[in-house]
Parts: sequence; C-alpha cells; structure tokens
Amino acid sequence: LQKIFSILVIIANTTFNLMGQTDYDRQIEELINQMTLQEKIGQMNLYSGFYDVTGPVPQQGSAAEKYEHLRNGWVGAMLNVRGAVETRKLQQIAVEETRLGIPLLFGLDVIHGQKTLAPIPLAEAASWDLKAIENSARIAAIEASAEGIHWTFAPMVDISRDARWGRVMEGAGEDSFLGAKIAEARVNGFQGEDLSATNTIAACAKHFAAYGFAESGRDYNTVDIGLYSLYNTVLPPFKATVDSGVKTFMNAFNTLNGVPATGDANLQRKILKMKWGFDGFVVSDWGSVAEMQAHGFAKDSTQAAKLAANAGSDMDMASGVYLKNLAQLVQDGKVDEEKIDDAVRRILQVKFELGLFDDPFKYSDERREMETIYHPNHQAAALEMAKKSIVLLKNDGKLLPLNKNQNKVLIVGDLADDKNSPLGSWRLASEDGTAVSVIEGIKNYTSKFQYVKGPTAFNSGSFLKNVEINSTDTTGISEAVNAAKNAEVVVMVLGEHGFMSGEGRSRTNLEIPGIQRELLKAVHKVNPNIVLVLMNGRPLTLSWEDEHIPAILETWHLGSQSGNAIAQVLFGDYNPSGKLPMTFPRNIGQVPIYYNHFSTGRPDNKEGNVFWSHYTDEQNSPLYPFGYGLSYTTFEYKDLTIDTTDQKTIKVSVIVSNVGTIAGEEVVQLYLQDPYASLVRPVRELKGFEKIQLQAGESKTVHFELTEKELGFYNLDYEWIVEPGDFKVMVGRNSRDVLSNNFILE
Ligand code: BGC
Repeated sequence: LQKIFSILVIIANTTFNLMGQTDYDRQIEELINQMTLQEKIGQMNLYSGFYDVTGPVPQQGSAAEKYEHLRNGWVGAMLNVRGAVETRKLQQIAVEETRLGIPLLFGLDVIHGQKTLAPIPLAEAASWDLKAIENSARIAAIEASAEGIHWTFAPMVDISRDARWGRVMEGAGEDSFLGAKIAEARVNGFQGEDLSATNTIAACAKHFAAYGFAESGRDYNTVDIGLYSLYNTVLPPFKATVDSGVKTFMNAFNTLNGVPATGDANLQRKILKMKWGFDGFVVSDWGSVAEMQAHGFAKDSTQAAKLAANAGSDMDMASGVYLKNLAQLVQDGKVDEEKIDDAVRRILQVKFELGLFDDPFKYSDERREMETIYHPNHQAAALEMAKKSIVLLKNDGKLLPLNKNQNKVLIVGDLADDKNSPLGSWRLASEDGTAVSVIEGIKNYTSKFQYVKGPTAFNSGSFLKNVEINSTDTTGISEAVNAAKNAEVVVMVLGEHGFMSGEGRSRTNLEIPGIQRELLKAVHKVNPNIVLVLMNGRPLTLSWEDEHIPAILETWHLGSQSGNAIAQVLFGDYNPSGKLPMTFPRNIGQVPIYYNHFSTGRPDNKEGNVFWSHYTDEQNSPLYPFGYGLSYTTFEYKDLTIDTTDQKTIKVSVIVSNVGTIAGEEVVQLYLQDPYASLVRPVRELKGFEKIQLQAGESKTVHFELTEKELGFYNLDYEWIVEPGDFKVMVGRNSRDVLSNNFILE
C-alpha cells in the first residue's frame, strides 16, 4: 500500500510540475495561507546587523527592538552580518523562535571577494576575459557562503561615462555590450549551476536603473536621460542578468526623469517583471524607500511605503518603513494585498531555491569557513585576475619590462608599500593590511633596489570616512629627488587611496591627487627614466604624464595579490594584455566622454572653420580611447573581409599577427556603425570581441558573426528593429585604431 501511495505522489508531483508549477509553488502557497499580514510584511523587511550579535541580547534601544521584531517573525532578511557563529545565532532565532520558523536570508556587499580580494570590478573588466571574471565571482561566492552569506549585492551593472562618479570602480565601465557580457559572467559565477549548493549565492543586479548617469558625476544626483539611452545603453546589461537567471534586483537612489527609481512602476513592474519576465525579487537600495520623502515624491513615510510597494519594490532595505506602514495601507485599501503576496512569493521562492527550508544552517559552517577563507587556490586565481587586469598605457623607448639584474632601481611613492589601498573600496568583510604591496612583490624578484617613500600622500580614510589628501606637506620630496639622481630607473607608484573611489566619492578633479604630482615633476626634472605605476579606482587625466613619462602602467586597485601581479608585469614574467573599459579624458572638461557617441551636424575640423563642434582650448579626442592597451609585443591587423552571402549571418574575419619577439594576448575588437537610420546611431559600437593568444611570429584568423542581435537597436517604443541599408564594420586593437570595410544589408 505504501509503495502504491508513493507512486501516486510521484505521479501527482510530475503532473503538477508539467503544469508549470514546482513543488516550491505549492509549499509557498501553503506558507502564505498560514501567514498573518504582518508576517508577510516581515518577509519584505531587510534589517542591517544588530550590532554585536554574539554578545548578550540588548534589553533596550533600537537593537533590542530589532531582536523583538525578529522574534515576532517580522524580519525576512539581514545584511552586514557574517561569520558562521553570528549567522547561526540569528538564524536560530528565526527558525526556532518565530511562529512559522521561516529562515532568514543573509545578504552582504560581496563586490570583489569576501576575504581573498580580486581586483575591483572596473579593473577586472579591463581583462575582457569572461572566464576569469566568472571564476573570480565563483571564488567570492565560495568564501562568502562559507561565512554564512546567501546573497550578494552584486554585480553592479550600471553603465557610466563619467569618471567623476566614484562608483565607476564597481562596474564594468562605459560600454553596454561589454557590460552585458561581464554582467552575465558575474551572475553565473556567483550563482553557479545549482543555487541550492552550499557554495553558491544569489546575485543582485543593481542599481535599477540609470544610477551611473548621475548629473555632474555627483553621487545620488538627478538622472535625466532620454528613452533612447535608457533602452539602448542603460538597460541591456540588466536584461542580460535576467536572461542568465539572476535571482534579485536592487533599485536605485536616483530619480529618473522625475521619478525616484524606488517608486518607478514602469521600470520595476512593466519592464522588469512583465516585459522581461523576471521572477525574482527587487530589494530597495539602503533606505531608498524613505528617501523618497527627501526627493519630494512622498509626503511622509506612509506615502513612501505605498508608492514603493505599488511600484514593485518587494523588499525594504534598512528604512523600516514597510514594517511600520504597510499593514495599515492594506487595511485602508491603498495597497492591494495581492501585491504583498506577490512580493512574499518572490522572496520565499529565492529562500527555497537556496535550500534554506531544507537546512537553514547549512551555510553557517565553521569548519568550511576555516578551510575555505584565503585558500591558496583563491590566492592563485586572484593573482591571475590581477595580472590580466593591468593595462600598459605607454612604453616609449621600451623601458619596460625591467631587467631582473638591473642595478639601481629606485622605487618611490607612499602607495608602494601600502598594504591597504590596493584592496580598493567595497571590501566589507576583508581584513586591513592583507594586500601584497608593490615593495613586497618586487622583493620576490630582486633585492637590488632602493625604496624612498617620498611625502605622505594621504592621512586617513575608510569606507565611511573621506580620505584626507596631502597637498601641502612636501617633506620627503628632496630625499626622493636626491636618490633619483643616481638611479637607472625610477618606479613611481602614485594614484588614489583605496577609499578615494566607491560610494559617495565623487571628484571634480581627475588628476593624480595632491602632493604626488609635485613629487613626480620634481623627480622627472633630475631623472626622466620613470616607470609610472598608477593605482586608482577610475580613469584619471594624465596629459602631462603622457607627454613626459616614458612608461605608464595602469594597475587600478588589484586586490590581495596586487604587488605580485605588478612585479610580474614590471619584470616581464607576464605580458600585459588589459584594455581600457572606460575612456581616459585629456581634461576634466571633456567629461562625460565616451567612444560610442553620436555625430553632430558639424563634425569636421575644416581648416579655418571655427563653427564646428569643438572646444577652443582642448582637442575633442580622449587621451586613451576605450579598448586601448599596449603589450610588450606588437600585433598587426590585415585582410578585413566581410561575407554577406547569408544575409541572416554576416561573416567578418581579420588576420592578426604577432610581429614581435615574445608571446602575447590581444583583445580583437569589432565595432559597427549604421551610418544613417530612423534614429541616429553612434559613430561606432562594440559588437564583438575575442581574446587570443599568439606566439611570436604566429598569425590567426579571427571570425565574427553579425546577426539581427548585433545589427539592430531599440526604437522609442522599446522595440528591437533592424533597418536594411549600409553598415560599416571596424576591427582593431581599440576603438580608435581600426581597419574598416562596408556592406549592405538587403
Ligand atoms: C549601496 C548599495 C549597497 C547597499 C548595502 C547602498 O548604500 O548603494 O549598492 O548594496 O548600500 O550596503
């Protein structure tokens, strides 16, 4: 009888599943039927850490209140709690002390690693290596999940064209095509193949939408962009994450065309949930529901809760406004309970998929925590990723690579022995002082060097505290200058402190900050044989440096293995292959500057004609274009051919040769232009790339295919259209230096 019964159960389950429903759906419905309205709203409430969660439970104050809410079943998720011990303690309350025992979801900003830190995301984007980027997210998930984390607030997929905005460090740069590919790689890395495995975590595409277009690059500022840019530039990377099965979305602090993103029903309900069919949940950004009052969109917190819930923000991060107001709003008929149920369904679905209902404690495993954190394999991967992220900007006279036996190498710069700044911003779980410094990296090669720190570059700075830049104290410059007089090569490590970029770190000046430029100029006067090693979280303006310094290496903030990676590149054990994911301007006045702009009606500099689109005091072109980066070897491009026989799949090929004397990697880039169309199209747009490896003397034919997906664009009704006519194909080493050829689409 028992056998027959279990067969019947299997048949019933299969039928259920065939009808498009999963086991979870049924369990979720059962659970929702048992929940009170306030318990449902509790699932939509995300609190930040209850402070010292391992200590005694506080008896009064806001932490005490949060514990009480947790016991009442009014907390669905928490952020900024981590570690097997802490997460287990809180999970125990949720599972054992609340009426329904629904497990908590633990979220954290795992942006470029948990403890082992990979390069900042912008740096990783410079690798154009999707497999390595995916692997980097995979490792972040392995370490984070071992510390009890189920959910990361990453990837940030905001496109930005404005280096003044400090959060460019957290994204993949200025281009939607590259951005979408990287977004996909990161989601796959975090979520893995099976979300219920203990070493995978749910990803979160953020910030929906257009946060990277903050006016003047000032964080949190107004965004006012047209539908054309929204559909064609901002949304594609978000859409790519939905297509790769991302479980959650985060909305944004900014307003978009007059509506705070958190209260934007068009974005969250119409586009994300209906048009794209996203079935995960949307979390607000930190306090962004309540912030709609300051925006001037909601009269009070009640109205803010109403607007956000109705617009499709499923979970309230940190403002507590849902918990306080939603029940009353439902009772008054101002928010439909069906909307609450929909949000709760989405949240519970993710908890089920993570396997939390099977074993709520499976992520909080101290043994795995011990075995996993800083694992040598993770360090090795971080080193590989760091090397791939470095971009060689200039190498005149082939000063690089340095000779290992070279005498008299002088290293200068406060950042050269800094073990914190290379870790970059957004490292909430990492430990200070864990980066390999440049000095340590170089020591692995040679002891024949001298180090002179020079002036102190920065005085302080942390995630929550602005960095104080030294602009006046010149102590240390003369020592560096004297040492430089006798050196054969001076390696100067300069740039931004790790916390000069990131959230709330907008700048109006993109030069190498403070006294460091004075130091550079003073050393240059006595010894121009300088290799400039840059550390920074955003594009800088480097016109003077480009004019005077023979070798420039962009190393961003490379994470735990920074110094080792830099040393390997300096001494030629790794041939740099990175390409810029963001344009480097000549001058701050050019910003926002990006490669895939439109043409004006007056694009040409006809001699004697001042009435063309230009600046009177600066060129239009950037210093280093998008996609730019050199190698220690030389690549040549020839024979760009286009085969249009099959109009549905246009085939493009090009021959790339390594004509130098050492092996190297090259990112072959394909750009497309639709020279006239029903909406004007950019002068060029990236539509394909391939990273290839070539031995010295070797050639390869690289193939690309152009289909509807590459040839079309979104019109103002958000429809994808392809218009027949002329197209121009450009293939090359960056967005400026290309071979080109035309074809006609019939
Ligand atoms: C940021 C988000 C982040 C959240 C939680 C906010 O200030 O904008 O990107 O995920 O804080 O730390």
